[in-house]
Amino acid sequence: MPMDSHSKTIYENPTARDLAGFVGDETGVSPYAGSPILNIITEKQLKTCVHCGLCLSYCPTYKATGLEADSPRGRVFQIRLLASGELQPDDSDLNKHLSLCLGCRACETACPSGVPYGALLEAARAQLPPQNEQEKILRKATLGFLFMHPTAMQAAGLGLRIYQKSGLRKLVRFSHILNILPGDLAAKEAMLPDAQGGIVKPALPKVTQPKPANARRPVPSIAQEN
Ligand code: SF4
Ligand code: SF4
Repeated sequence: MPMDSHSKTIYENPTARDLAGFVGDETGVSPYAGSPILNIITEKQLKTCVHCGLCLSYCPTYKATGLEADSPRGRVFQIRLLASGELQPDDSDLNKHLSLCLGCRACETACPSGVPYGALLEAARAQLPPQNEQEKILRKATLGFLFMHPTAMQAAGLGLRIYQKSGLRKLVRFSHILNILPGDLAAKEAMLPDAQGGIVKPALPKVTQPKPANARRPVPSIAQEN
């Protein structure tokens, strides 16, 4: 469904009519029928939000921008528009507001209606196209290759351990060479998790016996306490 000027503005400032229902409801046909989002979440989950606004004060991005579109309620609304086809996955505003979400899910714990915000966000983000060429390559390399091939994962782990344990990391950071390369490489390198153990990953034993120091202390029975 093409997006008209009304659709373009309602997620910034939804009216009571917009909040009460969506295009197609009155026809008896679900506006979300056939949406790929419903391969990941259910329609019931998509429609759980009652727009009460109790989550707003818990959302850091809403506090920072003051925009409804950057609030949990506004994002749920945009996700519904995405599912109904009133917003297209490549809509720049939609991408901006969903990308800005921290995924902290503070809204989820605050929500009295039990809106599964995290699941909605993940389902919606899975529909969005890569934002740039770098993200496109990264997605293909990780989701399309690395995570699909255990051998590649092991090789990547070995590379990470060699980089961190051999002293190469210290050299790279000392030289600041990443700062002169494009693509925020220095910031990304700083986010790499610390590899555990040595360069060679020790094979796990078939059975690991519990150590006495780690053994659970027996819980005293009520009779013993009395
Ligand atoms: S997400 Fe929950 S708390 Fe926020 S507006 Fe919807 S129902 Fe209310
Ligand atoms: S996950 Fe965090 S940042 Fe995103 S809408 Fe919820 S509270 Fe706001």
